[in-house]
Amino acid sequence: MKTYIIGNWKMNHNIGEINNFFSFLNTEEQKKELARILRDENKEAWIAPQYIHIGMVKDLCASLNVNMRVGSQNSSTHEKGAFTGEVSAKALKDIGAHFVIVGHSERRSMFKEDYKMLKDKIALALSFNLKVVFCIGETLQEREEKRAVSVVRTQMEESLKGIDKSVFASEIILAYEPVWAIGTGKNATPDEAQEMHAAIRGILTNSLGIDPETAAILYGGSVSPTNISDLMKQKDINGVLVGGASLKPDDYLKLCQAQKR
Ligand code: PEP
Repeated sequence: MKTYIIGNWKMNHNIGEINNFFSFLNTEEQKKELARILRDENKEAWIAPQYIHIGMVKDLCASLNVNMRVGSQNSSTHEKGAFTGEVSAKALKDIGAHFVIVGHSERRSMFKEDYKMLKDKIALALSFNLKVVFCIGETLQEREEKRAVSVVRTQMEESLKGIDKSVFASEIILAYEPVWAIGTGKNATPDEAQEMHAAIRGILTNSLGIDPETAAILYGGSVSPTNISDLMKQKDINGVLVGGASLKPDDYLKLCQAQKR
């Protein structure tokens, strides 16, 4: 099973800051360390910058000579046409994106992305050979009302039902991101995360007919170099999706170092 460290830079980092990020990683010592980690083909290190920086980050990743990959934080629900300001899955593929994040809670809540839109985005991304990082997770209120599992089940059923089971394991990565833990500094405890990840494996089998043992499920929500190890020790956690802590190159490297063996 592969493990993943995925940095979601959100609407952060300008060109100068991106160059600084990679200059740090491009020093002899850090480059060697990254190469040592990523020599293991079961370890993946991905970054999602803003759309306009994808090409630049792709080249900077290549300059490190390690298998680091770039992707997008979003993509359009439409394939092409008169959708001013949108970015298509095809254009993302063309510029070198390896993956696209779909269903991040900020997009669900701020941009009103619903189940159907997310289903369409997933289908389009897959049709252009982009891997999909599909985010799911409950709000604090839903957790307090003991509805966390049913909310996640609905999110999965509504946007993943009908998906080609034969490509699920290789093309789709799930990211469980409790909304109350994103950008708040308040992460789920390793036990809370493990409990939900186990429930998600159950939903994969029972609702979607997918072999749960083949699916990668990441945790996201205030992951940092200090709390990653305990999260990664959990049986059903195959990596992390990280916002804030992925912006600093030294922290990003530490996250990669904490990847499961
Ligand atoms: C995220 O944006 O997906 C995220 C988990 O953010 P943070 O790590 O900052 O909580």
